Amino acid sequence: MKICHTKQELRTTLTELRRTGSIGLVPTMGYLHDGHMSLVQHALQENDHTVASIFVNPTQFGNADDLTNYPRALEDDLPLLREAGVAAVFTPTPDIMYHDAAQTIVETTDLANKLLGALRPGHFRGVATVVTKLFNLFQPDRAYFGEKDYQQLAVIRTMVRDLDIPVIVRGVPTVRHDDGLAMSSRNSRLSPDARAAAPILHQACLAAQDRMADRPSAEELSQFIHDMIGTEPLADVQSVDIRNAETLEPINGPITQPAVILLAITFDPVLLIDQFVITPN
Ligand code: AMP
Repeated sequence: MKICHTKQELRTTLTELRRTGSIGLVPTMGYLHDGHMSLVQHALQENDHTVASIFVNPTQFGNADDLTNYPRALEDDLPLLREAGVAAVFTPTPDIMYHDAAQTIVETTDLANKLLGALRPGHFRGVATVVTKLFNLFQPDRAYFGEKDYQQLAVIRTMVRDLDIPVIVRGVPTVRHDDGLAMSSRNSRLSPDARAAAPILHQACLAAQDRMADRPSAEELSQFIHDMIGTEPLADVQSVDIRNAETLEPINGPITQPAVILLAITFDPVLLIDQFVITPN
């Protein structure tokens, strides 16, 4: 596996790889777990070469502490990628990634500023800009993103559509621990008590799916989830949203089309997000 620290090394490596087939890209911020590796497995199945990036992108963090405390473990990540069969990994520093007078941004104006985007202003602008840069640098045939970051996936699909970026975007289902907690690099920052309580997010989604038999309105279902998570004293509910699964537009009244439950819950100071698609009975 080729480890590329600079854009020039990456370009040279990709030119070689492209000669012998298609390229699938898995962008990550590292501290890899089975969720990331599921994206890698999907990429390996569909492409001649799978490549990855590990970059903790400063421009998508609103809070300096959150950026500083984001877990990193490059020395553990590289063997995982190598053993899986990844051909090359790009591991730039922020100085390599961004020109020091950089001023250009990419923003999906509506999608970036609602839901999690309202909770974390600037976050999705940072994501869209760095992913555009990665698409330009790698020029992959396909790129893989987790459904766990549901709004992020919607932002990237929208940006690719609107800017005619020639890449096929694939969404990959959320990988969970046995107790239902979605795998996340941030889970390592939970206290033992918070870790024990965190499966309530998924349990509430499963309970909401069961409640669908009673044909609740979106408002009733949202309240039900809010109340259930609220029974956990360590959980601070930031938002519970039930939205159209495709457009992420609000649903008022009965849920007649596939909908997505979007959760943002803080276990101080860690913000956990999760998602679950529900279908009307
Ligand atoms: P991150 O390193 O958190 O930026 O995540 C990199 C990619 O892995 C993103 O596309 C995430 O949505 C995806 N991902 C993170 N956690 C999971 C998970 N538990 N299951 C599936 N994909 C995931």
